[in-house]
Amino acid sequence: MDPSNIVDLSHKLDSDVQIYPDDPPFTCSPCATVAKDGYSVHGLTMGTHTGTHIDAPSHFFADGKTIDQIPLPSLFGPLVVVDLTQRNLQNRQMIIWADIEASADRMSPGVILLLHTGWSAHWGSPKYYEHPFLARDAAERIVERGVHIVGVDALSPDETPYQGVGGGQGFGAHEVILGAGGIIAENLTNLSALDGQNHIALVPLNLDGCDGSPVRAFAWKT
Ligand SMILES: [Zn+2]
Repeated sequence: MDPSNIVDLSHKLDSDVQIYPDDPPFTCSPCATVAKDGYSVHGLTMGTHTGTHIDAPSHFFADGKTIDQIPLPSLFGPLVVVDLTQRNLQNRQMIIWADIEASADRMSPGVILLLHTGWSAHWGSPKYYEHPFLARDAAERIVERGVHIVGVDALSPDETPYQGVGGGQGFGAHEVILGAGGIIAENLTNLSALDGQNHIALVPLNLDGCDGSPVRAFAWKT
């Protein structure tokens, strides 16, 4: 790995981090300061699905693997990006198989598949909740091809209910991907900076029994 070509695909965690409706807020506040104590320590609170993060199967399945049960090597892999940025995706548009079918021959066992919607440009605004989402049928076809890790540069691969709008489509992509023992990565960013990077890592905290974890997501060239 040549560190000089690493592209960071993670949002910064700060007090403005946009969280899923009704998830716990993110806080980071000083417990000790250099000025007062001679050293600095911060206290953190956050939900397990805060910022750029991955979902473990136990997010939707009580008997599914938790974050600490996912082997770290499985979160490194060849990167396949499906570029949807030229599709002029609209608010709450369903991404169907026909939208991604041209990339089907790149969907093979072991790859980590990212759907590049361009929606990360709306991070921090109400429009970020109105993201496009993946049809259950399309998720099934991805998983049928042996892909077990799917990431999006949006809040969720499923429609997000927000202020009484949306959510009627359920959690098809979560159920299909996590139900197959797979992993979902959410709130990725900076995908437009990818320039030939062909591998990706999604590195979570080793959280005992948890259903998700913030990650540092990054891609590099091999
Ligand atoms: Zn999540």
